[in-house]
Amino acid sequence: DIAPENRPKVGQEVNQVRDILQKQLDEAKDHFLQAVIAKKLEEEKIDVTLPGREGHLGSKHPINIILDDLESYFIGMGYEVVQGPEIETDHYCFEMMNLPKDHPARDMQATFYIDEEDLLRTQTSGDQARVLEKHDFSKGPLKMVGPGKVYRRDDDDATHSHQFQQMEGLVVDKNVTMSDLKGTLEMIAKHVFGQDRKTRLRPSYFPFTEPSVEMDVSCFNCNGKGCPICKYTGWIEVLGAGMVHPNVLENAGVDSTVYGGFAFGL
Ligand SMILES: [Zn+2]
Repeated sequence: DIAPENRPKVGQEVNQVRDILQKQLDEAKDHFLQAVIAKKLEEEKIDVTLPGREGHLGSKHPINIILDDLESYFIGMGYEVVQGPEIETDHYCFEMMNLPKDHPARDMQATFYIDEEDLLRTQTSGDQARVLEKHDFSKGPLKMVGPGKVYRRDDDDATHSHQFQQMEGLVVDKNVTMSDLKGTLEMIAKHVFGQDRKTRLRPSYFPFTEPSVEMDVSCFNCNGKGCPICKYTGWIEVLGAGMVHPNVLENAGVDSTVYGGFAFGL
């Protein structure tokens, strides 16, 4: 009970006490909050001077290194790069390439057939037929390379594989000669195997070219003296090539009396 005349005074004092308590409470709260932040900072300290984690970049596969190099080499010589399907038809893989169904040379190609008409391509030559069919010779010569995977029914060993990489090349124009082919193959061999390599052509047989040749380069390991890599011959076989068979041109609707060309397979 407070006498009415004292009430203002008491009220004032109560207010003062409340203000003091509130201020101390706020200070204490503030103090704890600072302590919590300081503790957190201490625990989560990051040393920004530490070296960062090293990134692990992948590297190119050797096959891709060679493919990229060859593609840019041929693009530099005015060739276009063509990619065909790995599941190819009998029509493009064989028939268009002068290999009708009963042709004995089909035995050279141990083929994985999917059904009567579809197969895993044994060669990238199907790309040749597709490009030949479409090419407009009024716009200039045809120059293409077709890189890609091919499949054969071979037992895998050191020098055979059921799946390997090929690069097909085709040039068709008026007045293309065997010496154009020879010059081109020599340039390719020197680009890939080095300027000091010697080359030689041996007669060979392919159904899609006539005449056909195989090219050897002098062994990069023994320089022609003979070693296990070149089977003591001094030479390593690197590609097959030849002048495009007139049937291949005619199959694609190209007049073989006007146009001719050469093809190679690396
Ligand atoms: Zn050798």
